Amino acid sequence: MSCAPTHAVWHQASGAVELAWSDGARAVLSGAALRSACRCAGCERVRRSGGRVDAPVAVRVVDLRPMGEGAVQICFSDGHERGVYPWVYLRDLVHEAIA
Ligand SMILES: [Zn+2]
Repeated sequence: MSCAPTHAVWHQASGAVELAWSDGARAVLSGAALRSACRCAGCERVRRSGGRVDAPVAVRVVDLRPMGEGAVQICFSDGHERGVYPWVYLRDLVHEAIA
């Protein structure tokens, strides 16, 4: 199961990403929300040492790069582009956003 969304649209003007799945789950995730949820090694190190990954509110998504079937790399306007987001993880974020 790939968990790939039926719909993944980068809104260039706002820097947000709109995602939708065939079961009706759908949300627009802001650049800041995605940046704060980054799970790259650097961000995970910050969390492990007790810190928080606090994205500036104005941070925007500047590129989405598919990584095979199961994930997407997200590049941010603050130059951070190490985050690879499995679709299944983004799905969890969307469910949190709409809960
Ligand atoms: Zn990161």
